[in-house]
Amino acid sequence: MTATIIKGKEVAAELRAALTEEVAQLKEQGIVPGLSVILVGDNPASHSYVKAKAKACEQIGVVSEVLKRDVSITQEELLADIQQLNESPNVHGILVQLPLPKHIDEKAVLNAISPSKDVDGFHPVSVGNMVIGDECYLPCTPHGIIELIKRSGEEISGKHAVVIGRSNIVGKPVSMLLLQENATVTIAHSRTKDLSAVTKQADILVSAVGQPRLIKAEDVKEGAIVIDVGNTMEEGKLVGDIDFEAVKEKAGYITPVPGGVGPMTITMLLKNTVDAAKTIHHVKA
Ligand code: NAP
Repeated sequence: MTATIIKGKEVAAELRAALTEEVAQLKEQGIVPGLSVILVGDNPASHSYVKAKAKACEQIGVVSEVLKRDVSITQEELLADIQQLNESPNVHGILVQLPLPKHIDEKAVLNAISPSKDVDGFHPVSVGNMVIGDECYLPCTPHGIIELIKRSGEEISGKHAVVIGRSNIVGKPVSMLLLQENATVTIAHSRTKDLSAVTKQADILVSAVGQPRLIKAEDVKEGAIVIDVGNTMEEGKLVGDIDFEAVKEKAGYITPVPGGVGPMTITMLLKNTVDAAKTIHHVKA
């Protein structure tokens, strides 16, 4: 069996086209969705992520501003910036680009963002609401993964989903979202014994580890939906956790790297920002 490739890049483009229309309609009502990004220091990777987010905003008509702060900024100054953004009527989404310099308490900074503007979905209130299934802004990568699984057209309910990885930004939240979709969920991690025996049971396999080609064809069930979150730089190329060429001959559906989960992450950030603008201005869905 050769798997159907779930092309995240194409799904992301479709979603962005719909968001562009939505933003145009909001603008007719005098509402201009706005995202503020705080960028501290001069980490080149952070600068390029922020640039990509700002460009994506511009493409769909969301106004974005990047507050560039010197690496020497104090925690108090950073918290004051966030307070100002929390109170600004033109700002609907706030994002603090991580990592922050070591002298700043990352948790205190993320916790200062108003949950109503927490478009990254990392605030403990957002996380709590996600776990109990209440309304909140879903974290972007896990939300994108669920959208891609749904694009396979297969029912999630009742399937056995195995998630490899238990980080707060991918593994744990995607496991919770799969549970909410009524999957039976197993979470595997570095202490899991006989990983292959676990992954072979998966109807849906999500790998969020960061180890190139960790998962081989023999670790995958025939016909499974395989989502590769991993992206590691190897000889100048992005490589996933899944041995794509071999696994695509056995899986039912598979995401490529690059062009799979990656493009969905910024798209879900855009969606959260547009949704935040609608909620703050009481626009019905
Ligand atoms: P992370 O915080 O480093 O977590 C990695 C997880 O993998 C941990 O839970 C770890 O287990 C587990 N693990 C490590 N080695 C393992 C092994 N041999 N077998 C089973 N589990 C193992 O990473 P992350 O932030 O979740 O990111 C994971 C990957 O996704 C990275 O490649 C990252 O670049 C990528 N990513 C992509 C996007 C995107 O938009 N495409 C977004 C976020 C992340 P322990 O908990 O036991 O240590």
